[in-house]
Amino acid sequence: MLESLQSIKGVGSAREKQLHRLGIRTVSQLLGYFPRAYEDRSYIHQMNQLVPGSLVTVVGEVILVKENRPRRNLSIVEVYLDDGFGQVKLTFFNQAYKKNFYKKGQRLLAYGKVELSYGQWQINAPQTEHIGATVEPERGIIPVYPLVEGVPQYILRQTLKNWFASNKELPEVLPLHIREKRQSRSRYELVKEMHFPRSLEGQQQAREALAFEELFVMQTGLLLLRQSQGPLHSGIPFGPNGSLLKAFRQQLPFSLTTDQERAFCEIATDLERDTPMQRLLQGDVGSGKTVVGALALLKAVENGYQAALMAPTEILAHQHYETLQMLCKGLPVHIALLTGTTKEKERRLLDEALQKGAIHILIGTHALIQDRVTFKNLALVIIDEQHRFGVKQRSALQEKGEAVHLLVMTATPIPRTMALSVYGDLEVSAIKEMPPGRKLVKTYVVNSSYKARLRAFFKREMEEGRQVYVVCPLVEESETLDLQAAEETFLELKAYFQNRFALGMVHGRLSGQEKDAIMEDFSRGNTQLLVSTTVIEVGVNVPNATIMCILGAERFGLSQLHQLRGRVGRGSHQSYCVLVSDSESVESKARLKLMEKIYDGFELSEQDLLLRGAGKFFGYAQHGMADLKVAHIIEDLDLLVEARAYSQAYLKRDGYEEVLHTMGPELKSRFGDDFVKILNA
Ligand code: ADP
Ligand code: MG
Repeated sequence: MLESLQSIKGVGSAREKQLHRLGIRTVSQLLGYFPRAYEDRSYIHQMNQLVPGSLVTVVGEVILVKENRPRRNLSIVEVYLDDGFGQVKLTFFNQAYKKNFYKKGQRLLAYGKVELSYGQWQINAPQTEHIGATVEPERGIIPVYPLVEGVPQYILRQTLKNWFASNKELPEVLPLHIREKRQSRSRYELVKEMHFPRSLEGQQQAREALAFEELFVMQTGLLLLRQSQGPLHSGIPFGPNGSLLKAFRQQLPFSLTTDQERAFCEIATDLERDTPMQRLLQGDVGSGKTVVGALALLKAVENGYQAALMAPTEILAHQHYETLQMLCKGLPVHIALLTGTTKEKERRLLDEALQKGAIHILIGTHALIQDRVTFKNLALVIIDEQHRFGVKQRSALQEKGEAVHLLVMTATPIPRTMALSVYGDLEVSAIKEMPPGRKLVKTYVVNSSYKARLRAFFKREMEEGRQVYVVCPLVEESETLDLQAAEETFLELKAYFQNRFALGMVHGRLSGQEKDAIMEDFSRGNTQLLVSTTVIEVGVNVPNATIMCILGAERFGLSQLHQLRGRVGRGSHQSYCVLVSDSESVESKARLKLMEKIYDGFELSEQDLLLRGAGKFFGYAQHGMADLKVAHIIEDLDLLVEARAYSQAYLKRDGYEEVLHTMGPELKSRFGDDFVKILNA
């Protein structure tokens, strides 16, 4: 299926280039490029039989094309179609090129919602297709593909049609016994039905079958991954909670919430078993996961083992280190910090102490997974903000010990479906309630006409002694542009506040040390306003900060905005989150408005998934997992559960090696080489 596209009839180098622009390079990518919608064009409507508000297909001759420019920034192209029974006006907004695209005398098919306005039938922004004078227009259910400018629909339809005309088979993905049990049609038929459905019901069934297949492959991958990480019965069982934990709890400045207690109880139970723990601790920003993680770390220490905590950023690693130092003051626990900026001299001492077991808890960044890091007896690994790390990094750290217990913590509350599909076999503990005394962060969505008012607002809060975060928009995934935008904002604010307040700025280009110094200044109150790119997203704790102002807010996901909002409202003062956006898009306005109404990170992340899809939800780390193409991560929950059961039974029946052998090629094509390498290791 990796054959080149040119092997298909009708595809020469020009058409191949067009397909490349859609990211389609192989035949299997072409076949997997499913329509985003379908149009029911089984019926061609006569122009004297139209019903206002209905979706119609009309075919007629172009009798007039004209462009109006009522305002400088507005172009309206109107195309009048006549079919001998009546006339319909097609209207296109701000697509001036269309005026040359349609010509008088052409035969045209148009599909869209028809309205009657002042006695004139019209369709706004219809789908159109040129059809020759003698050619019968395509009837039936027509696929509509997600496309880019300059690649018309018919290219895909025709290329696919040609492929299906000269090929009658596709390799199966599901094992035969599963296909038989589910009475699944051949893969060839299913894929064909997706592209050229005979009926909408048929397409639905095909979609479901392919979604099952996709989820099955994903689950199988995850289960294999889980099994590859060691036999199930050889963990390190810890003893019951002892005196170190007791002493730690006694000196905690607060008592744990019920949810925190429950989460730790679940973790402790896992740790006392002889199978390695695989648990996900999820809890909203500020719900207090760190202290629960700390209890687990101490339980390892109490049992004579070493434990490690990995955080995604230098700043966060530092903060964890300091928090833990403080909470463990006076206890016989040796905690060390290792990051990319740890000095070589210090580093050598640390390596040695770690190997001897003199360091009990090691906290750090990715630096922890470097080869030179060797533990004496690592028994527990905690990964904070898991969504920032890939599967590879997670297992790399685990491999530093044997049958190591694993706890991953995430502040991106992951819907159950997602947890199941992405984490496979992880058990889930959730912290839902917040520590007492938290106030809701008042949230407002505004546009940049509020600039002056916002500055006055910053000023008022700073005069009260509070602090302000200003987060600059993400520009096209480019750090350089991010930086420029942030610098501009910084200089502007600096000029505005003159020398009345001290401003800081932090961004991704700085070294870890530089970032830390700037964060430190902010956290000590030496600077009152901090301009940043998104680097402060996770974990940072400055209780005196009361304003989180996010520019270009429409560029962020809801979960990410919620994370950022979680940076304020950590102290006793009322806090505010201001989302600034000039987006005109109805969808992004509606999305941002949700932030004013929903304060539950769990609910927001579900909305985010629904609105943006899984790929963007996870951002750049992506778990090393491919996006789902057919299955819907929330709506297909039942299918997911079913796929999982099948996949478990399959592994039990055929065993690890056999399953890996059979499913290997498919896993490789979906999750990449690296993924399969881990499995083969
Ligand atoms: P997150 O879950 O986002 O990692 P943290 O662990 O950083 O949250 O906790 C946020 C803040 O709440 C910290 O300042 C922590 O000391 C405080 N905190 C945690 N648990 C409690 C509790 N039970 N009562 C009061 N404050 C708590
Ligand atoms: Mg945290």
